[in-house]
Amino acid sequence: MTDFAATKAMFDLPKGVIYLDGNSLGPLPRAAGARVKDMMEQEWGQMLITGWNKAGWMGLPTGLGDRIGRLIGAAPGTVVTGDTLSIKVYQAVASALELRPDRKVVLSDSGNFPSDLYMVDGLLRSLGSDYELRVVAPEDVAAHITDDVAVLMLTEVDYRSGRIHDMKTLTELAHTNGTLTVWDLAHSAGAIPVDLSGCNADFAVGCTYKYLNGGPGAPAFIYVAPHLADRARPALSGWLGHETPFAFDLEYRPGGGVERMRVGTPPIIQMTALSAAMDIWDMAEMSDVRAKSIDLTELFIARVEATCPDLQLASPRDPAQRGSQVSFRFAEGYAVMQALIAHGVIGDFRAPEIMRFGFTPLYIDAQDVERAVDILADVMRDRVWDAPEYMVRQRVT
Ligand SMILES: *Cc1c(COP(=O)(O)O)cnc(C)c1O
Repeated sequence: MTDFAATKAMFDLPKGVIYLDGNSLGPLPRAAGARVKDMMEQEWGQMLITGWNKAGWMGLPTGLGDRIGRLIGAAPGTVVTGDTLSIKVYQAVASALELRPDRKVVLSDSGNFPSDLYMVDGLLRSLGSDYELRVVAPEDVAAHITDDVAVLMLTEVDYRSGRIHDMKTLTELAHTNGTLTVWDLAHSAGAIPVDLSGCNADFAVGCTYKYLNGGPGAPAFIYVAPHLADRARPALSGWLGHETPFAFDLEYRPGGGVERMRVGTPPIIQMTALSAAMDIWDMAEMSDVRAKSIDLTELFIARVEATCPDLQLASPRDPAQRGSQVSFRFAEGYAVMQALIAHGVIGDFRAPEIMRFGFTPLYIDAQDVERAVDILADVMRDRVWDAPEYMVRQRVT
């Protein structure tokens, strides 16, 4: 059993704040500050460039990949970290397309995160006008997996509503049609159990600054199924994905396995912070995290619906269909969220009217949920949000 009191104690959470936004940016692991300081002073400071070998910096992208792999059903040696999620989306889709040269269509859905769609749009433009990004409603995806679709690119958990796509069924359907899959796990990794190998997923990508708590700017990760890893050609063919980077060959030859998805110099400071976060994940079992997450979201929904009649549930009611977040709709949701933040409950807002709350069992418990709903109920009942200072739109919502 995961000891959630122990994991909670390992985060540095500001007093008087209930943090329901770990789905956007996880909080600071207590050990991260000292770990990074030590890396900077003892490794960077003292070892200088020899740190790449002596301190094992060069192995961090795969070492961290393996630790993330445990949470997403990926075997050791199939996940590598680096770059940002948007870049990894591009890389995965480009590699998948190259494996299906006879087809020109990428299928995705309108619930997907815009950056994923933008990246594919940009990729397809550079490939030529015969390529097409086909975007359909989330519930219509299965019906649109036709035999001209090269790649099915989906985000498993919808960033706004928390609705979960059925990875196993859709991947099977895609394979029956000769289509490769790219799954974005941005709101899955550390949120719900994922079984990439059990689902036969081809490619998967995700970020580490949301549920995994790696910190702002933490690297992304990419998974390539073992049977494809030596065939998939990385479109972003940087020197550190080369078979022998330090031979400085003029010709690109991809390295073996998932390491070919490395691009350039890894962000070691950021990866050091992520390693402190992964120490906490090493104490957790995803099945325990999922069970507690469902308890927390069920409690939140029941209490909000009992006390805030003006808020409309925007997430699936069935917990099996829902990730680790709950969204409510309210026309003045932006102002409500600003008022909530001013009163110590941090969630976020997604246009046009979604108030989003993330539930992260590593450091959120039932008491936090109850207190958060009490504050939300006060804000709604007394129309606390209806004040000019809560209407001002900030750059990041
Ligand atoms: C958060 C998120 C991103 C963000 O991409 P970055 O390159 O890390 O900024 C992309 N896609 C999805 C589905 C996300 O949830």
